Amino acid sequence: MIKIEFEEPNIETCECCEKESTKLTRFVYKDDDAFAIYYIKFTKDHEEKIATGIISIGDWGTDEEPKNRFSFPFRIWTNSENFQVGLIDKEESPWKQSLLGKILDRKDALNHPWISEVFHITDHIVVEDKEVVEYFT
Ligand SMILES: [Zn+2]
Repeated sequence: MIKIEFEEPNIETCECCEKESTKLTRFVYKDDDAFAIYYIKFTKDHEEKIATGIISIGDWGTDEEPKNRFSFPFRIWTNSENFQVGLIDKEESPWKQSLLGKILDRKDALNHPWISEVFHITDHIVVEDKEVVEYFT
């Protein structure tokens, strides 16, 4: 069972248009254990409604880049009535911190044994993450 802990949103200035940009930080627990964290950001005034995010799963280490931790950058958009989730390449991710573990390109992410966990989390995001859901409605 997955449970998401929601932090207060951070409001920043969008790098491309200097309008208000929202950044979300969420902690994910699985059966009460810390399991993943994810970040999402979007700019309400952008014409194209897309939220960009990254899910980081695995052990937090003291290493510069934790070895048993992997990150999966993604995008959320809507297609008529449904949420769509697509993985993106590391290059397209606004997050590059080595603390997130190895950031995977789309192709490697899709072949990763943890990919089902990633989509399990995104299934919860599009239902339970109020800020994300509100952005698209
Ligand atoms: Zn912008």
